[in-house]
Amino acid sequence: MAVTLERSRHKTKSDKKNNIQMENHNFNRKKETTINRLRIGHPRLTHEYLVSKEEPLTCEECGTPLTIKHILTECQLYQQERINLNITLDSLLGPDPAQNRKILNFLKSINLIDLI
Ligand SMILES: [Zn+2]
Repeated sequence: MAVTLERSRHKTKSDKKNNIQMENHNFNRKKETTINRLRIGHPRLTHEYLVSKEEPLTCEECGTPLTIKHILTECQLYQQERINLNITLDSLLGPDPAQNRKILNFLKSINLIDLI
């Protein structure tokens, strides 16, 4: 019985991994747009002021200009989420879909995904 449970658990883990890999290669258009905006450094959240001609946004937590680099790598407010999702500088915005997925999950977990 114990063996069956172990096998069952192993299979579930493997299936989950395969599903994630498949998802990574099939980003929908919205997710692709989000990643592209992040790559060029012009997400709506931090660059809308250019269109609206208002003052650039400042991070309420740190008092520094709100940039995508600040959100992804610097802001102390999101440090725990960065650790939880294993977000590192090396993993940011490269071509690896698995890493892109991590960034999207990070933005989702800090409730900024819809503002990018
Ligand atoms: Zn901050």
